[in-house]
Amino acid sequence: MTIEDQQAGTGWDEIDLADRNLVRGGAEWNSELYRIATTQFDKAADILDLDQEARARLREPRRCLTVNFPVRMDDGRVCNFTGYRVQHTLTMGPTKGGIRFAPGVSEGECAALAVWMTWKCALLGLPYGGAKGGVRCDPNHLSDDELERITRRYASELIPIIGPDRDIPAPDMGTGEREMAWFYDTYSQMMGHAVPEIVTGKPPVLGGTEARKAATGLGVVYVAEAVGERTGHPLREQRVVVQGFGNVGGTAALELHAIGAKVVAVSDYTGGIRADDGLDVPAVHAWVEEHRTLEGCPLGDPVGRAEVLEVPCDMLIPAALERQITEDNAKRLDCKTIVEAANGPTTPEAEAILAERGILVVPDVLANAGGVTVSYFEWVQDQQKYLWDLIEIQERLRRLLRGAFSQVAETATELGVDWRTAALSVAVKRVAEAARWRAIYP
Ligand code: NAD
Repeated sequence: MTIEDQQAGTGWDEIDLADRNLVRGGAEWNSELYRIATTQFDKAADILDLDQEARARLREPRRCLTVNFPVRMDDGRVCNFTGYRVQHTLTMGPTKGGIRFAPGVSEGECAALAVWMTWKCALLGLPYGGAKGGVRCDPNHLSDDELERITRRYASELIPIIGPDRDIPAPDMGTGEREMAWFYDTYSQMMGHAVPEIVTGKPPVLGGTEARKAATGLGVVYVAEAVGERTGHPLREQRVVVQGFGNVGGTAALELHAIGAKVVAVSDYTGGIRADDGLDVPAVHAWVEEHRTLEGCPLGDPVGRAEVLEVPCDMLIPAALERQITEDNAKRLDCKTIVEAANGPTTPEAEAILAERGILVVPDVLANAGGVTVSYFEWVQDQQKYLWDLIEIQERLRRLLRGAFSQVAETATELGVDWRTAALSVAVKRVAEAARWRAIYP
């Protein structure tokens, strides 16, 4: 189909569904992660027999703002940084998604992560479309002052497209409560009054919610518990490996330890440690609090950054970054279940190998949805100026995640598909239906 055909509104009938290039549009989102996100979407869309119009509307992000801005470094030099904010769909309400500070941040990476946010919110029934943003930088090599200047300038650059009813950022890799506080303050300074509902994941004293920091890791454990019940292997009897010991992985490991599961290996970007009898996770956590990384941690035997994924266990929880389980290592993994705490840790090629080997993959859009769910609670509380207590938040989180879990497991059985395709089918169907009702403007 030519551009002229598209503009004239003709030619859709000629689209060959097998030739994805015809509906791919521009190459602006191109990245390995976006390829993975669209491969997963196509699979669910095929299962749903989604019509061409809906596919075209949902397959690509609606908006992307690219910003490039100068920041004065501590030594007086000025460095330019590039940042993005991608909004996938505006159909479901305001958009919602994290902000990532990492060296690999790109438009294509943000696009894929925004798409996943849409499915995650739709699966949990949250009134948001997906968004994601970030700044290409290495927070490990920036001072606190430099990070503050980057965060504040990036926040001010995003003003044209964000707002409590437009797009609400949250933490992701490399950002946390502190960055959200700076973001909130910058936005509020520019508006002339406090707007706590502009970001979630803020410190509780600023209108954040007690449970948000731990929510993603806690949610991972709630979902892992439900998997254990369904497979007849209670979580407390399982041996677990956790890759990544940051906000999500660190919290999940602590929680797993607390309920009696054996955490036999953990890792971060410097490497990992293992102990076949189970690590003393609170002690490891205290070590990382003090030393920032696991490097040199004497509380287990050292294990390489890549090898940690192959340590024998019942449950593997990738909680670091994307594309960790690939066709290169999928054959060697020694686990029964993978619970995806990170976004996009498994490539489609690896997933095919894992399916053949009978390894159950619990997809990211379900497993790590605890973060955005509690973010939603925080946003609701900020808007109502009425705070819920911790027990209420945890109970609501558990109930929503368990509800989504049952839907995914039942859909997988009903359709005879893997859990990711089942989760995406539920989500894509909801968003497609909403888009159909809202129709096309004008
Ligand atoms: P974080 O920055 O707090 O922690 C990331 C951890 O991964 C760190 O321990 C880091 O050292 C480690 N890591 C980095 N590269 C690694 C490598 N090659 N091998 C092993 N470990 C490595 O980030 P986070 O917030 O915990 O996010 C982790 C993942 O969870 C990301 O995929 C993120 O998108 C996803 N996620 C986060 C949230 C949230 O609320 N923070 C919500 C949903 C999903």
